[in-house]
Formats: sequence, C-alpha cells, structure tokens
Amino acid sequence: MNASAAIHYDPRLIEETVFHAQRDRYVSVELEEARNRIYEVADADERETLFNDLNQTWFVRLGLGKTIEQALQEQTLIIDQVENCFIVRATQAKEESAELFVAQDANRKNLEHRTLRVLLRPESLFDAKALTLFLRHELFHIADMLDPAFGYEPTLPKAPGGPTYDTLIINRYRVLWDITISGRMLHRGWCAAAIRGRQLNDFVNAFPMLQDNVEELFSRFFDSERPQHSDLARFAFDPRQASGSLHRHAAPGTHCPLCKFPTHAFEAEPNNLGADILAAITEDFPNWVASLGLCTQCADLYRARQMSMAAAKLLPGWSSCLKAD
Ligand SMILES: [Zn+2]
Ligand SMILES: [Zn+2]
Repeated sequence: MNASAAIHYDPRLIEETVFHAQRDRYVSVELEEARNRIYEVADADERETLFNDLNQTWFVRLGLGKTIEQALQEQTLIIDQVENCFIVRATQAKEESAELFVAQDANRKNLEHRTLRVLLRPESLFDAKALTLFLRHELFHIADMLDPAFGYEPTLPKAPGGPTYDTLIINRYRVLWDITISGRMLHRGWCAAAIRGRQLNDFVNAFPMLQDNVEELFSRFFDSERPQHSDLARFAFDPRQASGSLHRHAAPGTHCPLCKFPTHAFEAEPNNLGADILAAITEDFPNWVASLGLCTQCADLYRARQMSMAAAKLLPGWSSCLKAD
C-alpha cells in the first residue's frame, strides 16, 4: 500500500470533521468566505464538487488525518499487504473499529485483495492521544490477522455446549487476544504500565476456574512477543487442559453434564434457577433435566447469559471477522 495514496476518507467524515474545526475562529472566517463564493455557482453538481474539494483542502491543511496516517505507518504488515484503506464515519462510539476484508481475485485464484475499513466519529479525530491509543490497539488486531506467524483463523470450532458456550469461548478468546496486544503495546512504550493490572483482572474474570499459577499463566500471554492464534484458541476452549492444571482438579465421577469438566462445586438447587434459565439450558441441551445437576460455573454462565449475549454484540470490530462456526 502506498500509504498516502491508498487512504480514502469518507467525504461525510471530512465534511463533519472540518465543520468541528470551525470552532477556531480563523478557520470559520476563511471557510465562510470560500463557501459564499461556492453558493454563487449555479450548477448543483459543480457546487457539490467544489464543496467536497474545499473540505478536502481544509482537512489536509489542518492535519486532521495525521494521527490516522501515523498509526497506519507503524504497522508494516498493513502497509505491505493492504491495498486500500477506507476511513468511514461512525455515528456512535461503540461503532468505532477497524475491520479487514479479504476478497479473492476474480481471475487469479491465489491472489487476494485486502481492504481495511476504519470507522471513526469526527470528534475522535481531535483527541490525538486517545485516537492513537485506540488505533494502535485496533490495528494490532489487523496486523495479527495478516501475520502468518500468528496463524489467524476467521472462525473458532463450535463449542460442544451450544450457542451459549460459543459466546463464552469467543469472549475468552477476545480477552486473551487483547491481553497479548496490551502486553506488546506496553513493551513498545505505547501505553502506561497500569494496563498490566487491568488486563490481569480481565484474565481472572474470564478464567475463574484457574486457581494456581494465575500470574504465570497470564504472563504466558501478556509477555509473549509472538502470540499464536492456535494457543489462544486452545486456552479459550479448555483452560485447565491447556494450563496443565487438569489433574489437580479432577475428581472421577463428578463431571458436570453440561461443560463436561470435572467439578467439586455443583449448583446446590438447580430447580430454583428460575424458568427462564432452565428454558435456556434445555434449549442448548435438550436431554438435560434439573435432577442431572450442573456445576456452579455453568449455572453462573446461564445466569449471565443475557448479559454476555448483549456484551458480545458490542465487541468492536472483530466480532464480524471472528465468529464461532
Ligand atoms: Zn481488542
Ligand atoms: Zn459445567
């Protein structure tokens, strides 16, 4: 990618960003004069073109795309492999994200065309520090997806427990991937050291079944310079097996019928889970009845089901590029 030539800005994003910049008085006076001259042009199409050109000129003149261009330049895998990058206007903060689209060439099967789409709100372009942090994180996801050493796969295998477990595993995978990104960002001096504690917290919350060596297991991801998709996926699917702590928790004959994990902690009164939760479980496990029991973790998962489904929909960017298949 020729960085300056292949970045395409959404004209609406440019227009609104320049509009926001008018809070500076000299901008507003000069723009007003230029706009008044354009209003005198009789032809509507010509006026439209002139307005777009005017906004474009001011967008460049005010350096409003500088942070975006700098963040893109930092990821050489993106510069080398992505042909076009579209910077598109987002209406809400939660829409802000970066997404990678890969299309096979119509004539040459082994040729792929890669397009990056970055969604941003106009006002985000004015906070260079926050935007840099956000873009560095998002573009790290994209660079990993392009890196053969990372070995990204766009889908995770289906979880045996049905859709609720798919969501659980995607969430765990997301937490692990974010941890590796935060670790690498800290290593490059791209974020403050406090991120380690926050990410450790996320790790503990995502993997409550891990009792021993939690910091050591966390460091396996946070301090890894070369993380791999397959390691993240394996750990997300079966944290106890992947962490080697399975034997310490195994108790023969006490497997949860839902997650199949050996467990000491069965939910005390499965009948009291409530009609909604019981219905959600039997939707995923038609043969299950409350008398079979379930572990407290599965019970917690179904208790939080509504919440986790809602949270999964909010995942920025990669929810559309990584889904359980
Ligand atoms: Zn992320
Ligand atoms: Zn269970």
